Amino acid sequence: MPKLKSVCVYCGSSNDVKPAYIQLAKDLGRALAEKDLRLVYGGGGVGLMGACARAVHEAGGEVLGIMPKFLLQKERIFEDVEHVIVDDMHTRKQMMFDESDAFIVLPGGIGTLEEAVEMLSWARLGLHAKPMAFLDEDGFWAPFFELMNHIIDGKFTPEEFRATLVHENTPEAAIAALKDRLVTLSS
Ligand code: AMP
Repeated sequence: MPKLKSVCVYCGSSNDVKPAYIQLAKDLGRALAEKDLRLVYGGGGVGLMGACARAVHEAGGEVLGIMPKFLLQKERIFEDVEHVIVDDMHTRKQMMFDESDAFIVLPGGIGTLEEAVEMLSWARLGLHAKPMAFLDEDGFWAPFFELMNHIIDGKFTPEEFRATLVHENTPEAAIAALKDRLVTLSS
């Protein structure tokens, strides 16, 4: 039976967002630590990224941050946890993928969306079977789900792919969904 040990979190790097989004990132961080799950993330100290990583660390959990050299200043690497500095974005994304068993997508911008969609496209191509859950409390990701359903309704992506699209509204539900999907995908 596959075990969930490391969760990659994709999320926004902006500090200017509604406090509720930062709070959700903290809540997720605490939930990961409580469930003994390692956080794998982009390594930044800003926005939801920093909030989530700090919460895991403060709750005694394990974190791996992976940061490309050129973003060190901009995303202000969080140095209190284990981190790796890599040459470029491609290496960062590959390492985030390799080091994790599943993905959670918190509210974020174009970078978050790009990372999530790339992992979905790899799943679509059969390159991996790692589950993903989108997490928000206010329907932040609803327009994305509407778009994906529209794409599937149009038969551009097969019907079976709908099950890959998981949308939850609490950290606990997102983690539970990943565990369930991990079992389904391996059976
Ligand atoms: P954002 O959601 O735009 O705030 O970005 C969240 C994270 O995604 C940040 O760590 C960005 O460095 C990262 N990011 C931005 N653009 C890309 C991209 N093209 N591929 C992968 N990650 C990205």
